[in-house]
Amino acid sequence: MKYAIIADIHGNLEAFQVVLEDIRAQNVDHIVCLGDVVGYNANPKECLQIVRDMNIPCVKGNHDEYCSTDNPLDGFNPHAAQAVHWTRDQLSAEEKQWLRDLKYTRMAANFTMVHSTLDAPDRWGYVFDKLAAAASFPYQNTQMCFFGHTHVPVAFMRDTMVRGGTYSKFKVDPSKKYFINVGAVGQPRDNNPKCAYVVYDMSAMTIELRRLEYDIAAAQQKILAAGLPERLAERLAFGR
Ligand code: ZN
Repeated sequence: MKYAIIADIHGNLEAFQVVLEDIRAQNVDHIVCLGDVVGYNANPKECLQIVRDMNIPCVKGNHDEYCSTDNPLDGFNPHAAQAVHWTRDQLSAEEKQWLRDLKYTRMAANFTMVHSTLDAPDRWGYVFDKLAAAASFPYQNTQMCFFGHTHVPVAFMRDTMVRGGTYSKFKVDPSKKYFINVGAVGQPRDNNPKCAYVVYDMSAMTIELRRLEYDIAAAQQKILAAGLPERLAERLAFGR
């Protein structure tokens, strides 16, 4: 059984379509999404429609939450806040309801899905280091948990201690617990502009990070045409 695990699509239709094409070519059985379908880029409705049409199980991201409510945008940088306001204007009441109904965590097969952290999944903390990963592990009841939010692919492993690092492909040790960031489809931030997602092969017990080129210029043009901040277009070219 093969799972494709995607996160942080962020309304980037060009990136999402390339990822879906690659997923088809990988003979994947199921797809799950770790949240932030909307926010930042110019096609939130289209990306949301695809997720819904394909019945992709999804957890709630912070942008899904803020774009579907009128919650004050404390803690958002000005560009992100502007994109949230813009996205709120695009989404219908019914689409917002769908996003609001998403759960913070859920199970798929034998693994856990979360957008940010397991210790406080509705507080949107960022797991960049071992210390933050160590806080999440005690709440992880499955061997594998996949998360997003930082847009930086990194794998943490716990046995007697917590270790972590970047990865491309590795074999899972059944005696260890893993907390794995799958990178971002729609706005990579690890200085690599290629979109990212993971293929989890449950028979071979392998995790593979896939990186793909997509039409960045087209996504950028849409951002500018929508009147979204220029910075949101620029950053796609640098992957940060
Ligand atoms: Zn995000």
